[in-house]
Amino acid sequence: MTDFQHGMVWLVGAGPGDPELLTRKAERLIGEATVVFHDALVGPGIVEMAAPSARLVNVGKRSGRHSKDQATIDGLIVEAALAGEKVVRLKGGDPGIFGRATEELVACRAAGIAIRICPGVTAASAASARLGASLTLRGLARKLTFVTAHARSGECLDLDWERLADPDATLAVYMGKAAAGEVSARLIAAGLPASTPVALVESASLPAERHFHTTLGLLPLAARTALGDGPALLLIGEAMARPVDEAPEENAATAPLRLVLRD
Ligand code: SAH
Repeated sequence: MTDFQHGMVWLVGAGPGDPELLTRKAERLIGEATVVFHDALVGPGIVEMAAPSARLVNVGKRSGRHSKDQATIDGLIVEAALAGEKVVRLKGGDPGIFGRATEELVACRAAGIAIRICPGVTAASAASARLGASLTLRGLARKLTFVTAHARSGECLDLDWERLADPDATLAVYMGKAAAGEVSARLIAAGLPASTPVALVESASLPAERHFHTTLGLLPLAARTALGDGPALLLIGEAMARPVDEAPEENAATAPLRLVLRD
């Protein structure tokens, strides 16, 4: 029996942009859908995988340029499923990471609609891959923290900076471009050295990709001057120290040596 019946919804992770970073399952589900609701961050090469007869609906939200609010999107998805469509809701990256998946899950379940999730490659994985770096580093980055630095306009970020300023972690800051200055100042005030390596990756895996290495102290300047208007991720921590061209396999024996050389 097929896992995609009429009247059902799949929340599908579209990955960071490059169509080759889609899962095979995602590609199949997109091809089977009769309607595809997609985000602004989902690249054209992916949406084009839908059947020619499928209806494509851009419900994209980019900060500052809201096209449809979340309740409206929930309503459209529910309505399409109740009308007997095979609904794909495509979301950038992984639907379960800063993707507002819960609202859509709750709305569908409340309406008695079957809804399932197909995972995707999240931006932090794509960004570190493009840097030729590992997000974790034995002995140096034993933890990985995903955080969103998105604040409602005019509000300060409500984050636990003491806990985030962890020298043993890699911190992946989603939606952090506008808040880069505050992220830098707050982490330094909470004790993270200004020399902590930072990588900025914009439009990871897309043709417009740019990436830069800097430090926590210089992050505000780098974010202001070096980035364009694509989605960008801040990766903060010792694991981000390696330059792009020197990306040896992670190796416990050489990691301390690299540190000594860098100092
Ligand atoms: N669900 C998505 C994240 C959605 S939040 C995921 O798992 O990746 C949107 C934020 O993700 C952007 O503001 C940016 O910080 C990050 N992002 C998404 N795509 C990206 C890309 N191709 N390159 C860099 N950052 C990206």
